[in-house]
Parts: sequence; C-alpha cells; structure tokens
Amino acid sequence: MKDGQLDFSDPAAVRQLSKTLFKVDYHLKLEFPNNRLCPPALSRHNYIMWIKELMDSTTYMMPGAKLLGLDIGTGASCIYPILGCHQRPWSFIATDIDKQNIKWAQKNIDANSCNKRISLFLVDKDGPLIPMDKVTDGTLCFTMTNPPFYKSDEEIKASAMGKARPPPTACTGAEVEMITEGGEVGFVERILNESLIIREEVQWYTAMLGYMSSVTAVVEKLRGHGIDNYAIKEFVQGEKTRRWAVGWSFQAMRPNLSAARGVKGSLAKNILPALTEANIIHLNPSCANAEFAFRFSAAVGALQWISWSWDEEEMQGVGKTGDRIWSRAWRRRGQAERKRKHEQDSTGAAEDEPNKEVLHAFRVYIDDLDDEDEVVVRCRWLEGRDCVAFESFTGYLKATAERVQAEMEAK
Ligand code: SAH
Repeated sequence: MKDGQLDFSDPAAVRQLSKTLFKVDYHLKLEFPNNRLCPPALSRHNYIMWIKELMDSTTYMMPGAKLLGLDIGTGASCIYPILGCHQRPWSFIATDIDKQNIKWAQKNIDANSCNKRISLFLVDKDGPLIPMDKVTDGTLCFTMTNPPFYKSDEEIKASAMGKARPPPTACTGAEVEMITEGGEVGFVERILNESLIIREEVQWYTAMLGYMSSVTAVVEKLRGHGIDNYAIKEFVQGEKTRRWAVGWSFQAMRPNLSAARGVKGSLAKNILPALTEANIIHLNPSCANAEFAFRFSAAVGALQWISWSWDEEEMQGVGKTGDRIWSRAWRRRGQAERKRKHEQDSTGAAEDEPNKEVLHAFRVYIDDLDDEDEVVVRCRWLEGRDCVAFESFTGYLKATAERVQAEMEAK
C-alpha cells in the first residue's frame, strides 16, 4: 500500500490483489509463482463468459451439458479450466510447454478439487497445439487460448514505449509466456492450420487477442479459407485495457448476435461476421395481439418444414428444413413435382424421398406482446451455411406478416 492506495507498480501487491479477487468473487484458491504471469480476474472471467454464450447459443440442447474443452497454454494459474469447471459441469485438457507452469498448474488444480475434471499435459513446443491424441474420452467441444503476444523481446520494448498496447501492470510474464514465433497472430494461425485438418471434429476454435490489428489479420485468414461462421467479442476491463476474442467453426450452428458480433464500435463493420438475428416488422397496434400470432404462425407453419413447432405461450417457433421452402422458386417447383409424382403414382412408380437433411433452421418469435406499443416479429438464424438463405427467409417473413396484418385490418 502507498498513501492508502494499492501500489500497482509492486508485483507482490498486484499478485495479492489478483489472488484475493479470485477468492472473493469466484471462491477459487490460486497461487502464482513470483516469476510468472499473474492473471487479472476480470479478463479471464470475460473469456469464460463468452465461451458459455458461444456454446449455449450454438446447440439445441439446454445449457448445462458436460462439455470438454482444451486450454492451450494454461499457464501456472490454470485459470481457464479452473474457472470453467467451477461454473459449469465441464472438463478440460490443459497444456503448456513450461515445466514450472505445469508444476504450479497442478497445485492449483489440486487446491480447487478439479483433479477429476482437468487433465494437464506438458507438451512439446513444436508439437501440435491441438493434441487430439489426448482426447481419449468423449468429443472435444471447444478450444481456447490466451497466446503469448509478442514476436520478440524488441517488440515488447517497443510496445511498452509506444503504448501500442497497455503495459501489463507490474506482473509481467516469463519469456515463454510472452514471446512466440509470429506473435499472437502466428500462434493463432498454427491453430487455424490444424483446425483446417480436423475441421468439424471440434465445434469451436477460439483465441484471445491483445491487438486490434490481430483481430483483422485473423479474420482475413479465416475468410481466406472460406470460413464464414466466426465470432468476435470485445472484452473491456476498466478504462484502459481492451482485449478481443475470435472464434470459428466448421459446423453449421450459428451463434447469437451478442456472441458473434459482441463489439462496441471499435472494429470496422466489414470484418464482422454475418448477422444472425433480424427484426422483421413492428406490428401495428391493432394487430399486436394473439390473433396475429395465431394467423402468422399458421401461415409460416404451413410451409413444408422437416419439423416445425410453435409454442403459443412463448410465441415462438423453430423450423428446420433441407430446402428453401419459403422461396417462390421452390414452391413453383413443388407444384411441378407434385404433378409429376401424381402421374408417376398412377403408373405405379416409386415416390421420391424429400430432402430430410436439415440445412437451415430458424427461430421465429413475437416479442413484448404485453407492451402494445413495441411489438416486433423477430427471427434468429440457428443453423445453416448460407447467409443469403437467412436474408431471403426474413424477406418471406416480412411479406407474410404484412399480408396477415392487411387481412386483419380489412376485416
Ligand atoms: N492461460 C494463461 C497463460 C497465458 S500465457 C492465462 O491466460 O493467464 C501463454 C502460455 O502459453 C504460457 O504459459 C506459455 O508457456 C504457453 N505456451 C507457449 N507456447 C505454447 C505451445 N506451443 N503449446 C502450449 N503452450 C504454450
């Protein structure tokens, strides 16, 4: 303490503060060695919160499933796996290349009774960053990492002088924690290259980034490989420190807007992923009622979905389909097909199977029906690889809602 204030230039004080915050706010017992990175509680918490949001919004299951994650470079604190295990029934594989970090990480795992759920591995620096041979039980659901930021010692010095990024308080890490070939972008590119081989085996690959320019660089690489299902989140810790996380997936489940585009204007719009939620229409007050919900859901439900369910209470429905069943072209084709099938049936020929594979899924819902001034029809893109299909479906919803309103008002 100095003049009744915590002295942030004193490493021991900063370490103690971090330990205390983890104890008080998260009920964790953590110890960090003097010569290693001391993780600030809030930024680590933010990354775990985002992973929860990402995983929860890209599944049809209820939140709370037993997921398996990988933390690449877990550090002496082993902070992400320990936080993750305390907040969810998850388990983790945690790796590091530094013997001392592994030793301390194991102490922290034991102190927080996580031994059964965290498997720790000392790995080779030139080996794979996603060691799939360590996944012996279940499916790896996500990977996360807070990579070493810098390319070189010179970069650390230059950055401290130029304040290209805020200095990491008094608790700087050891070289192994701070420096990696190609800096953070190089590290994430290695993960990307491995993900391009194992693809859908893992649902989400994610990384935290310290430079805004790295976010752009990583997104460009993702797009260069044709990956359009990605997510960007900005973490703001206090006034000075901003961090970002980027995630990408080869699977077709789409994250909600807050997980996919969780940035507050710091990044250029053109690097953000496609929208996954849309406001379709504000209802006229005379149509903001249960009759509209009934007519509108009946109209949408009449499409040839593989499955469609409408929950009257919640005023929401989920539809899954293998075709663009809402498009005029499909409906025209449907008519021609039915005619052809009818002719075939009369000659005794076998019927064609409709496309049973789900390629698009949407949630359609009516919000705030209690407040008659602000009733909106909204749509959330849940699953699919084709953002043009989502756009065209929202166009169909708008036309349908307008038609239903016109019919109601004409009565
Ligand atoms: N996850 C911790 C530590 C991040 S520092 C936290 O957020 O506080 C980065 C860590 O990555 C260091 O512990 C470093 O030893 C480790 N690391 C560097 N290269 C690695 C590699 N190739 N494989 C696994 N870990 C690595």
